[in-house]
Amino acid sequence: ASLFSAIEMAPRDPILGITEAFNADTNTAKINLGVGVYYDDKGKVPLLECVQKAEAKLMEQPTPRTYLPIEGLAAYDKAVQELVFGADSPVIQEKRALTVQAIGGTGALKIGADFLKRFLPGSDVYISDPSWENHRALFESAGFTVHNYAYYDAATRGVNFDGMLAALKAMPAGSIVVLHACCHNPTGADLTQDQWDQVIAAVQAGNLVPFLDMAYQGFANGIDEDGAVVRRFAATGMAMLVSNSFSKSFSLYGERVGALSIVATTSEEATRVLSQLKRVVRTNYSNPPTHGGKVVATVLATPELRKLWEEELAGMRVRIREMRSAMVEKLKAKAPGHDFEFVREQVGMFSYSGLTKEQVGKLRDESIYAVDTGRICVAALNSTNIDRVVDAIAKVL
Ligand code: PMP
Repeated sequence: ASLFSAIEMAPRDPILGITEAFNADTNTAKINLGVGVYYDDKGKVPLLECVQKAEAKLMEQPTPRTYLPIEGLAAYDKAVQELVFGADSPVIQEKRALTVQAIGGTGALKIGADFLKRFLPGSDVYISDPSWENHRALFESAGFTVHNYAYYDAATRGVNFDGMLAALKAMPAGSIVVLHACCHNPTGADLTQDQWDQVIAAVQAGNLVPFLDMAYQGFANGIDEDGAVVRRFAATGMAMLVSNSFSKSFSLYGERVGALSIVATTSEEATRVLSQLKRVVRTNYSNPPTHGGKVVATVLATPELRKLWEEELAGMRVRIREMRSAMVEKLKAKAPGHDFEFVREQVGMFSYSGLTKEQVGKLRDESIYAVDTGRICVAALNSTNIDRVVDAIAKVL
């Protein structure tokens, strides 16, 4: 027998599997709503103008590609902190926040998970039911036992907030609770400000460890508006972790630009935490790549590029909202007995559409691809494909 003869086939990634089936489909009118990517109205992944200008600027004075520090580019880490916590945040002024550049949001979650496993080996991790499909596997691969807390209520197509709060209150002290800071993936259902207040109070009262995952800052209501939750957690003085990603907000998916920030209780504590976090990075991949971090740092630190980015990000946010409204209005006309108003209330790239696995299967017969759970990527709708999508949905209802 060979060394690998007993190795079993791993289960297919449910979402990447959809893309494989989509790619194999020869129908030229095929539509992929299963993705987690923002497409523009022409159905293309945008290359943002601010990114192109930053790249041109960087090429005016090309620099050698030496290793970055373990924690990444200092200018990038600083820019991330200001974006995530707010430029005038006390946690920055008091040097209680530390940030390391990471390999996308996924990399940020993983180094956060590895770090936590070293120092809280007995804690369990709680993720929302449902959550981003990689959360569970990622924390399990760091050695944690992962539980769900109640989140989505299919009956109301909103958040089961009583269930969520009860779950938070029942968690043992020291439990790690992963919260989507905005644009909940996969449901599109976010908490209200008042609900966040209650969550923050429960996390604080229960001595829980909040791990905020912010992969879509700027896609719900605005950069500062979406960051407000992080700021409110930080204002409590609690220790906390925040992973963030620029994959979507800069359309830089393949450059793998993200970061992990940790807020400690004192600056002296932050220094020690950073030193340990650097060990985690060092033993995983040593240090992060240069290009994406430089591009993002350049955009964020150059006033005219930053303004351009904010406009381009607003453009993506507004287009998604327009697609939500268009979908609701068109479904009202095509499927009068069905209420899709909730699609307008949801935020971010995704919508739990309420379509069943069977209905998703029927859509696929029309070369329209969605996730079996009924999750559709609203950011993959456009003025050319929306009518076909709406007609197909109306037909399977
Ligand atoms: N967290 C959530 C909630 C996500 O939806 C995603 C995927 N976009 C990530 C983290 C990972 O981000 P990245 O693609 O930058 O690794």
